[in-house]
Amino acid sequence: MQKIQNFINGEYVDPAEGQYIDNIEPGTGKVFAQIPNSTQEDLDQAVEAAKEAFSVWSAMSVDKRSKIMHKLADLIEKNLDDYALMESRDNGKPLWLAKAVDIPRASTNFRFYASAIVNFSSEAQVSEGFMVNYTRRAPIGIVGCISPWNLPLYLFSWKIAPALAMGNCVIAKPSELTPMTAFLLGKLANEAGMPPGVLNILHGEGKGIGQAIVEHEATKAISFTGGTTTGKIVGATAAQQFKKVSLELGGKNPNIIFADCDLDEAVKTSVKSSFTNQGEICLCGSRILIEESIYDEFKKRFLEECKKIIVGDPMDAKSIMGALVSSDHLDKVDSYVKLAQEEGGTILHGGKRIDKEGFYYEPTVIEALDANCRTNQEEIFGPVVTLNPFKTEEDAINIANSTRYGLSCTIWTTDLKRAHRVSHAVQSGIIWVNCWLVRDLRTPFGGMKDSGIGREGGNDALRFFSEPQNVCIKL
Ligand code: NAD
Repeated sequence: MQKIQNFINGEYVDPAEGQYIDNIEPGTGKVFAQIPNSTQEDLDQAVEAAKEAFSVWSAMSVDKRSKIMHKLADLIEKNLDDYALMESRDNGKPLWLAKAVDIPRASTNFRFYASAIVNFSSEAQVSEGFMVNYTRRAPIGIVGCISPWNLPLYLFSWKIAPALAMGNCVIAKPSELTPMTAFLLGKLANEAGMPPGVLNILHGEGKGIGQAIVEHEATKAISFTGGTTTGKIVGATAAQQFKKVSLELGGKNPNIIFADCDLDEAVKTSVKSSFTNQGEICLCGSRILIEESIYDEFKKRFLEECKKIIVGDPMDAKSIMGALVSSDHLDKVDSYVKLAQEEGGTILHGGKRIDKEGFYYEPTVIEALDANCRTNQEEIFGPVVTLNPFKTEEDAINIANSTRYGLSCTIWTTDLKRAHRVSHAVQSGIIWVNCWLVRDLRTPFGGMKDSGIGREGGNDALRFFSEPQNVCIKL
């Protein structure tokens, strides 16, 4: 069985206290690897390495940093098959999905920020004849990047890439449920020519090493993606030392279908936005709100499509959905389906575990729930969606805004004015009109309300990972 290691100062090392935890393969339910359960001593070593490396990395020319990051992107592409296989075994997602989305996007993240940093310029304000101000943006120092299990390398690299591009050194922790591709990344960072200590990767539990990274006085900014409950702890901990913090948290996203939509497109894409990656994408539309006049027609066509979804072995190219990430998560999803029934919901499709080794669950569609019940208010983060009729545009907006979350929303309509009107009224950081999960990496990414604070993506991330300093010159 594979025993993975931490990556500190450019070397793979065992955890100082020799503690390991089992990593389970969701597709089989069996132990697949052992991962370090890192402690303060490991963190202290990573901090020492990062401190040493900072003077080299932050002083390196932007062109040189950019070249190293482009090389890293190339190497990820070159290793696509191996990485996708590891990601799929680690997470339970279909191999084809890891190959088509997760790993290519990780490489794109490095490539995007390798280019973005070259094009990033300081702002200047000229008060003619009086003064000139310019804002210098310096790297912060050592930053902590903590990521979840649903899109392992994709989200890990989404944080690391802008932090490194800006000249910071990174101490990163992937989820303990999906450590494999982050583990592999160390080797490629070395091959790409990244100086030792610039990127350090520690494995282990959130409450242990995750919390320690946030608490350590050496980490000056924390970029966190995960659940809202954890985000609250991370935010409160970071606040004690006035650290910069970016929190990308949970969601309960509405998918609003108006009667004037292109129904073929709306049905086809809604199946994807409900069940892609087993519904384990923070941006999945888990509450489908449908205008009353087309409710029956949408329901009929949506259910026909759901029946075609094959759930099975992540390695099988025919599987549209693979396994859920863990046994605990499977229990959580199942408990919500039971709750939905207690709350008066009717299961229209699915609603059961699949009787095979591993953590498989049927794609599940539920109707006849109140908009304010727990099933419609709390994040399930699995293959479960609810169908909810609405009467008017105002109703749709009210239902959409009725949860504590505000991450993303999809709107289906061919009425241009309505598209803008509803977009502006819905409290979500990301709005898709007649599409879903289409991303331009230059745009600000993140949520409103309890879905987080701060925005990632484009120059927002480069600004987050830098310290602005205004210089004023009197003319
Ligand atoms: P989680 O909050 O349990 O864990 C996320 C990461 O935080 C893991 O690496 C974990 O080990 C670590 N962690 C746990 N406790 C910690 C602590 N006290 N201090 C520091 N780190 C700690 O989340 P998860 O179950 O891994 O991921 C699922 C959640 O992530 C869902 O709520 C989902 O919506 C959210 N998510 C949000 C986005 C987004 O961009 N908004 C993207 C993906 C996932």
